[in-house]
Amino acid sequence: MVAQRTFRRMTFADSTGHTHHTPSAAPAAATAAAHTPAHAPWWLDAHLDLAYLHLGGPTVTEELPDPVTRGVSLPALARGNVRIFLGTIFTEVGTDAASTPWGYRDHDDIKGAHAAGVRQLKMYEWLEHTGRARIVRSAADLDACAAAPAGSPPGIVILMEGADPVRSPDEFAWWHARGVRVVGLTWAKGSRYAGGNAAQGPLTAIGRRAVEAMDALGILHDASHLCDESFAGVCAATSSRIVATHSNVRALAAPVERHLTDAQIAEIAARGGMIGLNLYGKFLTAGRAATLADAVAHVQHVAAIAGRNCVGLGSDFDGGFAPADCATGCGRPEELPALAAGLAQAGFTHAEQAAFAHGNWLRTLRAALHDAERGAVSRMSLGR
Ligand SMILES: [Zn+2]
Repeated sequence: MVAQRTFRRMTFADSTGHTHHTPSAAPAAATAAAHTPAHAPWWLDAHLDLAYLHLGGPTVTEELPDPVTRGVSLPALARGNVRIFLGTIFTEVGTDAASTPWGYRDHDDIKGAHAAGVRQLKMYEWLEHTGRARIVRSAADLDACAAAPAGSPPGIVILMEGADPVRSPDEFAWWHARGVRVVGLTWAKGSRYAGGNAAQGPLTAIGRRAVEAMDALGILHDASHLCDESFAGVCAATSSRIVATHSNVRALAAPVERHLTDAQIAEIAARGGMIGLNLYGKFLTAGRAATLADAVAHVQHVAAIAGRNCVGLGSDFDGGFAPADCATGCGRPEELPALAAGLAQAGFTHAEQAAFAHGNWLRTLRAALHDAERGAVSRMSLGR
């Protein structure tokens, strides 16, 4: 998730029928699919705000009424061969819950944050109950989703983006039991647990307890919106695996804390984590429209530090911006083959393209889920 944008209010207007967009500029979907080579990989996208999009309306389960403002829906993900994704529980502090179902008043509005988070959790559960998706709770679930034939309901790993909905560190166990497997302690605006990239501050005392609780449950750490001080705080508080689900390279983008320093990239790699490429144009370059070559440059930079096995996709498609705001030619799931083609041009073999598209995330998430299951066994054997 990037930030609130005006188009989102337009989307709300859509859902009430007060404005009418002419479906136009039909996505290159059909065309892209028609020209997809036989070896084209399937995708694991480490960052999609599906529940938030759904609550903003119209439903993500059906075709998009306006492909200009939105790119993500379950049909679009199926066409793009995105078989597994990390689906966020995204909540925003300082936003009125009456007008934005993901909003809560301030950091003291613990009840409001919790309610907003639960609302999105229930949306994923509803997708599962209606057979439209499968929630990934274990390594076996992950592998089953990876092995399912194309066109099967996608697997969703639930990722909490900003932990304010967790009322106290003790409550991580409840969220874990409901399926949450990855947590970023804060979104941009900070949380009770940690400083964010747009509201810097330390990992708080309750944040350190949150890290402990997550480690006890085997919940994977997402560093994407941590400010530098809190990134260091989390690293000091745990030796666990850390990923950045949707983060780019600070050396190639703006010098702001939303993007990873080379040292942070190396730290994530050293911990067995990995980094998801964010396709939002302003996170790829400055002062002009971003190109696929810009996106590939970020991948190459991460790979030069961490290796080609430590980078994958974390598109953030529709995370507060429209398809046209992404790297040119890669703003929606159906256009992902263009990214694979860009990697091929940069010298990535078919196997390396597949590793970027899904293999690296699959390996990393499988290891994290295995660790969590082993931890659960040892807790049981200790009678805890
Ligand atoms: Zn985000």
